[in-house]
Amino acid sequence: MTRTRIAVFLAVLLVGLVLPTQAELIRSRKPVNLPDVAGFKTLKCDFHIHTVFSDGNVWPHIRSEEAWREGLNAIAITDHIEYQPHKEDLPTNHNRAFEIAKSHGDALGLLVIRGSEITRSMPPGHLNAIFLSSSNELAVDDWRDSVKAAFGQGAFIFWNHPGWTGQQSDGLARWYAEHDELLSQKMLHGMEVVNGHSYYPEVHRWCLEKNLTMLANTDVHDPIGLVYDVNEESRPYTLVFATDATPEAIKEALFAGRTALRFREQLIGREQYLRPIFEASVALLNPGITIKGKGSAFVQIHNNSDVDYQLTGEQPRAEITVPTRLTLKAGRTVLLQVRGTSDRQDGKRNYDLRYTVRNLKITPDKSLQVTLPIEVTFVPGR
Ligand SMILES: [Zn+2]
Ligand SMILES: [Zn+2]
Repeated sequence: MTRTRIAVFLAVLLVGLVLPTQAELIRSRKPVNLPDVAGFKTLKCDFHIHTVFSDGNVWPHIRSEEAWREGLNAIAITDHIEYQPHKEDLPTNHNRAFEIAKSHGDALGLLVIRGSEITRSMPPGHLNAIFLSSSNELAVDDWRDSVKAAFGQGAFIFWNHPGWTGQQSDGLARWYAEHDELLSQKMLHGMEVVNGHSYYPEVHRWCLEKNLTMLANTDVHDPIGLVYDVNEESRPYTLVFATDATPEAIKEALFAGRTALRFREQLIGREQYLRPIFEASVALLNPGITIKGKGSAFVQIHNNSDVDYQLTGEQPRAEITVPTRLTLKAGRTVLLQVRGTSDRQDGKRNYDLRYTVRNLKITPDKSLQVTLPIEVTFVPGR
């Protein structure tokens, strides 16, 4: 071998040793960066998932690995009790999908919660019961008995996809007497404000008015990669603000209503959670700047989260101008250019720049308002 050939041979050998194989790249987890807030851990959860044990097209343990790869902390397996198109191929055991998913979840450190979908015509429609001790007890004729069985097990019960076009042809959710009945018996604890690709503004409003827990879930039936481009976008999920990363702590947080929702580029939830998420994500690296005359200076703003924050603002006072639209890109530091308006300004001034974060939705028609405090030292001159 010539020296060149030896060098090439060694280089190829080295690349082979150092580069991960395709399989290693694919079987990897991409963590979600969203800060812990208000003394709680921010857990990412999907509480509505199907497998081949009802009308899904995926073996249960794959559900655990899909969620682990996407950086989720917990999932609930919620196959239909009343609908099993594969029952000629698979025995009826409403607990089995959970057991299979949980064993792989345990191996990966992903929490898997036992659930079932009580699947009835509207009203009451489809209800998920999670944190069950046994799903088989829910397989009874009367939907009221099924809900009672779940309630008796201490389950957290929520109303799925209330505006699903399969049950409401116009896509609008309607509240029925049956839901009042469940609510008055404390057998309805939450609602899906987001199900898959749908957001229901009327459900968002009901959750705020009736103090119900808001949820965002996929209701996925096919492999997750057939429904979402998982390298480019996130599945919808529920952020749970829990005291600990355990099923018990998640259950406590759900009953207490401590959730927010990730839906595409948006976060949806009560202001008391979205404000601290924004504040813990965003840092002004140099809030104090000096501007000479009509010149400009840059405030650097870092966003350590995985969400782009889309800001629309107002012009502050006459002495300066700032951009009225600004996107704080996920994981980036962006420049906010502040410009002086006169050659004769002198001295120090503080400004609270007012912005609306368009994609942080605190009600169906209101986004979070924030202020960015800066201090400007003006130096007269040209
Ligand atoms: Zn359903
Ligand atoms: Zn479902």
